Amino acid sequence: MRTRTLATSLVLLSALSLTAACSSGSDASSGTSSADARPGAAPTASPVRSVDPSKIKGLEIVSDSSEQSSCPFAASYPDVPGAEAMTAAMKKDVEERLAGFRSGVCNGGSGGAEGRELNVSHQFLVASGDVLGVRLSTQDHSGAGSGLSTSTYWYDGKAGASRKALGLVADGSQDDFIAALKDQLKGREGIDAAALDTTFSDPASRTAALDDMAFTTSGGLRVTLDRGEVGAPAAGTYMVTFPKKMITPWLSGFGQRVQRQTMTPDRSLDLGAEHIPTPAVPTHTASGDDDTDCKKVTCIALTFDDGPAAPETATLLTSLAQYKARVTFFTVGQNVAAHPELVRAEARAGHEVGNHSWNHPDLTKLTPEQVASQLNRTSAAIKAATGKAPTLFRPPYGAVNAQVKATTTLSPVLWDVDTEDWKYRDADKVARTVIDKAQRNSVVLMHDIHPTSVAAVPEILRTLTARGYHFVTVSHLRATL
Ligand code: ZN
Repeated sequence: MRTRTLATSLVLLSALSLTAACSSGSDASSGTSSADARPGAAPTASPVRSVDPSKIKGLEIVSDSSEQSSCPFAASYPDVPGAEAMTAAMKKDVEERLAGFRSGVCNGGSGGAEGRELNVSHQFLVASGDVLGVRLSTQDHSGAGSGLSTSTYWYDGKAGASRKALGLVADGSQDDFIAALKDQLKGREGIDAAALDTTFSDPASRTAALDDMAFTTSGGLRVTLDRGEVGAPAAGTYMVTFPKKMITPWLSGFGQRVQRQTMTPDRSLDLGAEHIPTPAVPTHTASGDDDTDCKKVTCIALTFDDGPAAPETATLLTSLAQYKARVTFFTVGQNVAAHPELVRAEARAGHEVGNHSWNHPDLTKLTPEQVASQLNRTSAAIKAATGKAPTLFRPPYGAVNAQVKATTTLSPVLWDVDTEDWKYRDADKVARTVIDKAQRNSVVLMHDIHPTSVAAVPEILRTLTARGYHFVTVSHLRATL
């Protein structure tokens, strides 16, 4: 089970809430004023209460990503025990997006244009009592209006059912709710009155358009409409926040429970799961600093990106300990937040923990502020988990430029052996590739989110050890060359 101390929990929580505050923008409209619609406002501006995902028992983050700049995609969604129907809904949506992107961009399809990238990231909205809420944010530069779309997914543990966002509103109140929503949107800049009527004309299109609704911490309901749904794509995202007093009479029973759990969450989540896995966390402890002298012996730096992942990272740590091998993990912030105990286990075993951004975007396509946020949030989560801030970062897709470098004091690390393990998912092939391409002082790229890559590691360690290799961290390699 998790062994995080209270002090560390508090540090992590404050890190999470600080970063949430930094990215949440103004909350001036929620709760007190009447509805608010602001074209161009970022959907992440919703003042949701930050949820500590490491408290969700049995949580697994399902991740899929490439590390190739010609096919840049990264997607993740949570798998929470008991909420299988909701996980299935997210899986279906994410896999459809990924399949479309991969067939168009990665496999030599017609869409291989410069600048295309798909990124799906997740955020917990509520995870307490018998209620679970998650928002998936999709940045799809290949889409027709290019940009961001968001959806919220809800699970009702009492009913044992997945819910659409519109399920927060009682069936009998939906007409009143929609009429009030249209009133708030009409006359706003960029709103197309005809599109507004069409979008909300029948139940199916209402449900599809109103797929992002969540409560504010003061009990208001915030509705987010993606680009192009009710106005010109250029007008951006619209948000409407109904104050608590106005929305409460219209809520369904489920909506009322979500509202209550958003405002004053219970201490724990119970969705009635029959079985909650409790993956073991390896307890190997490094015996002192590594004194390997890479000037005298043959060194190699294995690196594992995109984790941590349960249970794959734990399995990997056990293999590494058997060979006293030290490696470098380039962790993704949203996975560090979910599994700080695994990151702590990495550091305790003498491995290096580096920064691989919060949710794996191409950093060269972001503003300097966004790059700083991606790296700083992740460094804070790593420090909260291990007590030590990282000094290295690996840019997703190896994409780095002078502007990215100027935003951070972290040192970039690329690679010279690319296993492309994310592409073919074959343990024997991963092992063969590393063994064939390994050279003295190589930096090898692998991913510990894939069971096939983790399964390749014992063969790699066995063969390269027999050939005289010593497995060291990237910083150790750099320091002793
Ligand atoms: Zn990566």
